[in-house]
Amino acid sequence: MFTCQVCGADDQDAHTLTLSCLYNLSGISDKFRKEPDGSWSIRTCKDCRGNFLAILQYWVEGNFAEVDSRPDRNILVRVHGRTVMMNTQEWEAHTARRGEAGRRPHRLG
Ligand SMILES: [Zn+2]
Repeated sequence: MFTCQVCGADDQDAHTLTLSCLYNLSGISDKFRKEPDGSWSIRTCKDCRGNFLAILQYWVEGNFAEVDSRPDRNILVRVHGRTVMMNTQEWEAHTARRGEAGRRPHRLG
C-alpha cells in the first residue's frame, strides 16, 4: 500500500512517473524527488497518472501553443505560476470561476 503524492489516496497499484526535462522540478513542487541520474520522480495512483497523461496529450497536440497565439488576447493573467493571455470573454469566465466576477483586468496595449 502506498499513498499517492498528488491526491493522497491510498492505492495498492503504485506508479512512478519519471521526468527528465533539464528543468529543476523542485520549483514546481517539493513532491518531486531528484534521482541520481538527474531525472525527477513522483509516485502516483492510477487516476493521477491518467490525469497527467491527459494533460501531456493536450500539450503534445499543440493546444497550449494555439491558445497563446490569438491576437485578441491582451489580458495578462497568472495561472498556476505561469503567464496566460486571455481575451475579455475568457477573463470574465476565469474571474467568475474564482468568485471574482466584475474584477477589472490588467490589459496590454
Ligand atoms: Zn492520486
